[in-house]
Amino acid sequence: MMRLILFGAPGSGKGTMGDFIQRDFLFPKISTGDILRSAVQQDSAEGGQARSFMESGGLVPDELVIEMVRQRLSRSDLGTGYVMDGYPRTLTQAEALSRIACESEKAIFIEVSEAEAVERLLSRLTCNNCGAIYNRLTKPPKRDGVCDVCRGRVERRADDNEEAVRQRFRVYAERTMPVIDYYDRKRVLARIDGGGPAARVYETLKGLIA
Ligand code: ADP
Ligand code: ZN
Repeated sequence: MMRLILFGAPGSGKGTMGDFIQRDFLFPKISTGDILRSAVQQDSAEGGQARSFMESGGLVPDELVIEMVRQRLSRSDLGTGYVMDGYPRTLTQAEALSRIACESEKAIFIEVSEAEAVERLLSRLTCNNCGAIYNRLTKPPKRDGVCDVCRGRVERRADDNEEAVRQRFRVYAERTMPVIDYYDRKRVLARIDGGGPAARVYETLKGLIA
């Protein structure tokens, strides 16, 4: 079983690339952001614990996220591989993930300028039901406010506002950059240029997986 891990700043395109990989390689995309948002929506105990951290752009406590991922990875639908989007984000999470076995592991760091990432986040729209990603300017849903995939409601994420975005970048630099170094030292890290249209970035990325 192959474990692919996507790294990149908020707005770098991790989620979009994860969706493409899921479609073409049939690797389930495991997005801790999506799992947490659905917990918040369902008003579960975990969602209640996570909500305020997410809205302010901070990190949800490690214990909670590590346990959610452990449960997700114990399901039997993983097939020949899976792709992680947004996890691990701290060294503690990376160490916990390393204790879960896999045959091969690849980490891909999607690099994009902060200016381009911020611009994408502030025009991004997300389906609050299935997590599908749209963009007000470059990829609006066919029907205004309605998801093409599931007919759910498409809107701006609660944390895609200027203040939370600034905090997410700060947290990314402080907590997640060291995790990228950790995979670099493990010699499993590749870097790709994440600037420009998603389809072009994906062509490069695909070459690294097959
Ligand atoms: P992005 O990469 O665009 O910032 P995500 O959807 O991956 O957004 O995550 C949204 C929020 O969910 C994060 O800002 C954080 O509060 C929480 N979150 C997601 N993944 C993790 C994680 N691995 N550890 C802690 N918090 C997380
Ligand atoms: Zn949807």
